[in-house]
Amino acid sequence: MKLSFSAADEQFRIEVATWLEENLVGEFAQLRYRGGPGDEHMFPEERKRWEQKLAEGGWTCVGWPKEHGGRGCSIEQQVIFHEEYARAGAPGHVGHIGEGLAGPTIIAFGSAAQQAKYLPGIVAGKELWCQGYSEPGAGSDLANVKTKAHFDEQKQQWVINGQKVWTSLAHESDYCFVIARTDPDSVAHKGLGFFLVKMDQPGVEVRGIEQLTGTSEFNEVFFDDAVCAADDIVGEPGQGWAVAMGLLGFERGVSTLGQQMQFQNELNQVITLAKENGAASDPVIRQRIAEAHAGLKIMRYNSMRTLSGADDGSLQKEALMYKLFWATWHRDLGELAMDVMGPEAEMLDGGPYELSRLQSMYLFVRSDTIYGGTNEIQRNIIAERGLGMPREPRVTIKPQ
Ligand SMILES: Cc1cc2nc3c(=O)[nH]c(=O)nc-3n(C[C@H](O)[C@H](O)[C@H](O)COP(=O)(O)OP(=O)(O)OC[C@H]3O[C@@H](n4cnc5c(N)ncnc54)[C@H](O)[C@@H]3O)c2cc1C
Repeated sequence: MKLSFSAADEQFRIEVATWLEENLVGEFAQLRYRGGPGDEHMFPEERKRWEQKLAEGGWTCVGWPKEHGGRGCSIEQQVIFHEEYARAGAPGHVGHIGEGLAGPTIIAFGSAAQQAKYLPGIVAGKELWCQGYSEPGAGSDLANVKTKAHFDEQKQQWVINGQKVWTSLAHESDYCFVIARTDPDSVAHKGLGFFLVKMDQPGVEVRGIEQLTGTSEFNEVFFDDAVCAADDIVGEPGQGWAVAMGLLGFERGVSTLGQQMQFQNELNQVITLAKENGAASDPVIRQRIAEAHAGLKIMRYNSMRTLSGADDGSLQKEALMYKLFWATWHRDLGELAMDVMGPEAEMLDGGPYELSRLQSMYLFVRSDTIYGGTNEIQRNIIAERGLGMPREPRVTIKPQ
């Protein structure tokens, strides 16, 4: 088990921290601690420029192989990068879906032509992506996707019809990766395709969904005879499930580990407030703060243990617990923040619906236990894949 970083890695930490200190200034200084979950609507244009600034410094796609334009960082260096990024209060990445999901998927499953066409725009921080998986009837049960894609032989292109929902940042995105049924008579995970679809075209309509936070960072997306070039399907028609599942492996991967520093920032804010308003003298609040602190330490050491991994570099089964643990911890932090705020938690900063950062955090963290796999689904995964328990019965419904 490795519980510390090497001297070379610590040197890398200094390099990251120094670059951030020197560059998160001027017009970017206002972005500190902004643009994270629940705050993604803030400063979109400035954050796009920041993304390009990062690219100039070689700090986008740090974990990608160098041959694809990345920095080729080891897992340890990636963790350090994300930690220092959050420690500096650098803003939420508008390009995180391209960098963390679309790009790695195109690297793993895409053709050389797709890699040449799409990866440079992601590395440069200039082309943003969104994820077109969920539909009104297909969330946890993703195999229930109904959106259809048929190949127009005459025009030699794919034509897509259907609806996606909860599509984060679709309103800012240039492209969407879409799972759609290439075989209309297929059921479950068979007969699907994985498409790279341009958002700016007739036949793609994005409608914002207002969230509890009063902001709107996800959307409904409607495809009405939207088109996609013949060679913009990743993998074979009908074989999209393997690509879609491969992508989810990236979603649960290393980039989530650096978020602990962001959690630390939030916990620090709660502790500061508790000291200021006297809540820290309440023994129950003190105990909950101590538990939150302990939870963060557990996350850190468990991550380090998981990263030490098996000799072949694969993640251990313990990694399956991570999503369930952090999502629940973060939800509880939101509740702790409200109790520390006391009666003020129920007051608005201003009208008509101006929330403080902690109020916004409290409301947004409810969704942590939903996206990227709900808590219930994570428990199924731990039971079935981690503990080898029998699979729960599955029902296959034929789409109408
Ligand atoms: C903030 C946010 C951002 C999102 N961004 C995106 C995005 O960018 N792109 C995208 O495609 N999707 C996105 N999603 C959608 C997200 O992936 C789904 O909400 C999630 O997969 C759950 O699906 P669902 O909402 O359809 O709920 P359902 O699957 O209908 O689940 C409803 C409830 O039933 C439970 N349940 C379902 N099946 C089982 C089971 N087998 N055993 C036990 N309990 C079960 C669930 O845990 C849940 O409590 C986002 C969601 C949120 C909240």
